[in-house]
Amino acid sequence: MSDKHYHIETLAIHAGQVPDPTTLSRAVPVYRTTAYAFKSSQHGADLFALRESGNIYARLMNPTEDVLEKRLAALEGGKAALALSSGTAAIYFTITNIARQGDEIVAANNLYGGTYTQFDAILPQQGIKVNFTPVNDFAAVEAAINEHTRAIYIETVGNPGLDVADIDGYAVIAKKHHLPLIVDSTFTPPTLLRPIEHGANLVIHSLSKWIGGHGTAIGGAVIDAGNFDWTDPKFALYNEPDRGYHGLRFAHDLGPGNEIAFALRLRTVGLRNQGPTLAPDAAWIFLQGLESLALRTAKHSENGRAVAEFLQKHPKVAWVKYPGFNPLSEKYLPDGANGMVVFGVKGGAKEAQKLVDSVDLFTIIANVGDAKSLIIHPASTTHSQLSEEDQIKAGLPPELIRLSIGLENKDDIIGALDEALNRI
Ligand SMILES: *Cc1c(COP(=O)(O)O)cnc(C)c1O
Repeated sequence: MSDKHYHIETLAIHAGQVPDPTTLSRAVPVYRTTAYAFKSSQHGADLFALRESGNIYARLMNPTEDVLEKRLAALEGGKAALALSSGTAAIYFTITNIARQGDEIVAANNLYGGTYTQFDAILPQQGIKVNFTPVNDFAAVEAAINEHTRAIYIETVGNPGLDVADIDGYAVIAKKHHLPLIVDSTFTPPTLLRPIEHGANLVIHSLSKWIGGHGTAIGGAVIDAGNFDWTDPKFALYNEPDRGYHGLRFAHDLGPGNEIAFALRLRTVGLRNQGPTLAPDAAWIFLQGLESLALRTAKHSENGRAVAEFLQKHPKVAWVKYPGFNPLSEKYLPDGANGMVVFGVKGGAKEAQKLVDSVDLFTIIANVGDAKSLIIHPASTTHSQLSEEDQIKAGLPPELIRLSIGLENKDDIIGALDEALNRI
């Protein structure tokens, strides 16, 4: 592809790929291989010494994943990207590619459940403390930052309240304290929102959701904007010689690669020595998803808004949240607010469960971002380990139902909800 500035729909279909030079295959081939042959012992030696770039072993790199990574970087406006085995792995290896024992992170408190548990229960076991602050409470963020802080972590649209993060505000604070701003943008794929344009330094995706788009594979990615200076000595992992890599100092010794020191370290330390590799078959599924991403996020957004507006008017419904109703969506989500809707039914948990059990068309499932419409009652499932008091503190009243609106005809989706609501 030429350097011409193509639109996002075009990049989603073409970026990072030319037809395979040996077979001229138009689609991206799935390279099911564990390792790659060296042309000679010298070639092997040059690859290992980083004198030449190329494929060595598929734990670190694979040509199918290479297309996925280049395409994601192009879509997000980043300089490099890495695909990992899951969104959860992308988050864990991003944090541990920046912070080590004794370091701290400041994070919003409205995170995806699995991320919250990783930050609240797992990272502290490894000596990394996470200070949670209410989303968009910038005074609390400032107060939580100290000399040990190494990053600020947010989600573009939080769970389950569907609040919209004021990314610009976070970026100002991150810049002031010279901290990388990490943004999980899973709920807002790059056809809807590109956090790097708002000052993010690293963008994370669970590819398992809208990017894959059909509920068929688990994967994650992190996109490096290449806009963060890692030479500040407080980032020890980038400034101290790395024992695992010939004493390399990642912020200093990579030449032009210093710009993407984060991505290079994640590949040469994270993927190489800790191993959260994505399978090439899954990478292919995500590439297939990206080709229709723009069409799908437009339709998810259209259907999501229609369902949210229908629920607002329904007499059995107490309240509705949709990211598109948030005033911040005008700035951050002008092209659509995607398909997540939460609402409360009048009555409470019993009524909510009755509705979930009787609604047609929807699948009861702990997932989001499928072509199929999905429904769940979080208080009795995903968040059932919390006490009712903690559930309410987490913005999760017992009557709350979460919907991930799919790509079906919107009249069918609304009809199914209307019938079920009228039964309770
Ligand atoms: C699903 C999800 C994750 C975790 O991703 P997996 O691919 O399931 O590991 C992280 N963040 C958000 C916002 C998610 O929705």
